[in-house]
Amino acid sequence: MGRPSPLYFASRLSDFYNTRIYLKREDLNHTGAHKINNTVGQILIAKRLDKSRIIAETGAGQHGVATATVCALMGMKCIVYMGQTDIKRQSPNVLRMKMLGAEVVPVTSGNKTLKDATNEAIRDWISNPIDTHYIIGSVVGPHPYPDLVARLQSVISEEMKFQVKEVSGKDDPDYIIACVGGGSNAIGSFYHYLDNEQVKLIAVEAGGKGIESGETAATMATGRPGVIHGSKTMLMQTDDGQITEPYSISAGLDYPGIGPVHSYLHKIKRVVFDNVNDDEALEAAFRLTRLEGIVPALESAHALAWLGKHQFRKNDVVIVTISGRGDKDMDTYNKYMGEIVSRRLR
Ligand SMILES: *Cc1c(COP(=O)(O)O)cnc(C)c1O
Repeated sequence: MGRPSPLYFASRLSDFYNTRIYLKREDLNHTGAHKINNTVGQILIAKRLDKSRIIAETGAGQHGVATATVCALMGMKCIVYMGQTDIKRQSPNVLRMKMLGAEVVPVTSGNKTLKDATNEAIRDWISNPIDTHYIIGSVVGPHPYPDLVARLQSVISEEMKFQVKEVSGKDDPDYIIACVGGGSNAIGSFYHYLDNEQVKLIAVEAGGKGIESGETAATMATGRPGVIHGSKTMLMQTDDGQITEPYSISAGLDYPGIGPVHSYLHKIKRVVFDNVNDDEALEAAFRLTRLEGIVPALESAHALAWLGKHQFRKNDVVIVTISGRGDKDMDTYNKYMGEIVSRRLR
């Protein structure tokens, strides 16, 4: 995987926001996101359980690629369910999965995005209980997945524990900020700090076009308790309890639920949940690129955008988890390039 991933001092970004910003570089992992932390662990479990067939769902394609990668490594059959909408907007990842030997099955129900791909994967899983292991990609789904994936992703904060001291001189960070789709990079970033109340934990959801617009994926802001994919958790739904179609510019955050652990952390007020809109995320992505030479994933850009929504002290140590890199998002970035660069960054 290339671990430990660096905890990198972003000096120009720090100047811009007048605080001390450190980036946890999950974008530098093999295959380009934090997803590989989980798939490596789960493929070892699948081997141990004597399974021969691996299935997965994917939104942005990062989890599909990470799963196809470990399947190639272990010589296992790999089937990835992916919504037709996402197949179109994340085509480089579709090609990578195919090159790695995976079969990519298009899903055409619902919004044709992550929720629908997860439905299909769960249908496959319950129909093939003998030979198949389902490598789920986030802290969602039925037990024990939320717990299992959180533990595998907790390597992120396990490394921070020794890195913070090395790079900042402080024992602990003041803030840890991460984006949330299902919530795996966020819980991995928070895990070893949950009992340390001094560390403020910020989870940033995708506001889409705004939480009032109806086109959003901000589950905490707009949802209420419900059941999805085998978990009771906060869920975007109509008055009748029908799941609402989520929307985000970022395929990896386009999910109407959230891992049940986050619902709990929200309820006990240990983690602050907020959201940023598409345009704020785009602007943050271009800002990081121009100030630090790092092109983040659109998902990670949501965490970065929160930096502009809060007043930090000059000496705060602020960690932002860069969950992935932006190669897969170049089509989207290209579409908004002229507008964002001229309007916002001067
Ligand atoms: C999948 C993905 C996410 C969202 O998933 P979480 O489980 O919420 O972490 C965020 N960033 C990137 C780069 C991703 O690939």
